[in-house]
Amino acid sequence: MQLFRASIAHFPKQTTQFDSDIAIFKDGGLLVDNKEIKDVGAFKDIAERYPAATVTDFSGKWILPGLIDSHLHYPQTQSIAHYGEQLLSWLENYTFPTEMQFADSEHGETIAKVFLNQLLKNGTTTGFVFTTVHKSSSQALFSAASEIDMAIVAGKVCMDRNCPSALNDCPDTAQTDSAQLIETWHNKGRNRYALTPRFAPTSTEAQLAALGELAKQYPDVFIQTHLSENLDEIAWVKSLFPKADGYLDVYDTYNLVRERAVFGHGIHLTPNEWARLGDSGATVAFCPTSNLFLGSGLFDMTAARANKVHVAMATDVGAGTTFNMFKTYGDAYKVSQLRNEPISPLEGFYLMTQGAAVAHALDHEIGNLNPGSTADFIVVEPRFDELTRLRIKEDADFDDMFFALSILGDDRAIDQTWISGTCRYKKEHN
Ligand SMILES: [Zn+2]
Repeated sequence: MQLFRASIAHFPKQTTQFDSDIAIFKDGGLLVDNKEIKDVGAFKDIAERYPAATVTDFSGKWILPGLIDSHLHYPQTQSIAHYGEQLLSWLENYTFPTEMQFADSEHGETIAKVFLNQLLKNGTTTGFVFTTVHKSSSQALFSAASEIDMAIVAGKVCMDRNCPSALNDCPDTAQTDSAQLIETWHNKGRNRYALTPRFAPTSTEAQLAALGELAKQYPDVFIQTHLSENLDEIAWVKSLFPKADGYLDVYDTYNLVRERAVFGHGIHLTPNEWARLGDSGATVAFCPTSNLFLGSGLFDMTAARANKVHVAMATDVGAGTTFNMFKTYGDAYKVSQLRNEPISPLEGFYLMTQGAAVAHALDHEIGNLNPGSTADFIVVEPRFDELTRLRIKEDADFDDMFFALSILGDDRAIDQTWISGTCRYKKEHN
């Protein structure tokens, strides 16, 4: 058994009381047995209970649960940071050409490895990932994640209209390919499958119906797509689905709005749509860097809270500008400042750990440092350069440290990333 000594912070349970429900141990101990967390608390107590454990001392650093990124696109790793587009022209000019390269399965294998390296380097231990329309792109990602025993949720993108013909599937192949991927990967090891229509405009009603059948047949698979990101997009959905009562209703009609459904963005939602999302138990993935980068709009966290909608933080790379979840919260804070409703550092931390895990019904395994959870955790070095050593005190409180890193930090603050009890990333020190 291994005992890690460091400052420790996590949310043990579901909460909206972030100040009182965070568990913080300034001189903490995390006991790991093989792949699992066995105990967490004050170092002195844990050391007394397990005198035989091998101690690794990270004093001066923080141990936090591995971070959860609830919406991103691995094929877009190489199309991050392109100038000057909003959503629909962005897809046309950058996304679709990039995704076409994944017809070559070796390309998928190469990018999957680069992508997972970027996650690890930034302390992200679980991602909700869109692949491409090619089945092999999902195979490549699940295989690469399996090699490091990483909990990944992913699915083949389904599109049968309004995209280049090279990226077209059809209702039948979308259904049979998705079903085959579910049978091969869902709940195998730490892999989980997500039915993944890109968004309503690129699917016919027949395709959404075919995926809705699978959603019924496999009630514990995830569903991921996009919703109400951009005003032109919403107008387009209205013209493509004239009978629907709004954008969300398109998905609802086909049984795609439920627990474990994760909707990217949800910026321009109506009061009825907010209420329906709250009732359904679905999740909205808040992607602040992407929303600012594409000029999509400012997410309404207050409406989400008022309607008890699950919210989880996400990067949306490649429209997002960073793989780093701390920085992503930094932009969520700026978005919330523009709405004059600031999101606190502790709430931000919750939305990328336990809050996300609860939203996805995965909190028995990830998102926290509770005994019984899988040992996915990160070691954070807050004072990694001259400026952070100046700004962040050695004995800084967690919320101050986390906030400062959300503005000043990046992957240099991530010292180590552990997955299933094994160190999978170690920062190189100069
Ligand atoms: Zn997206």
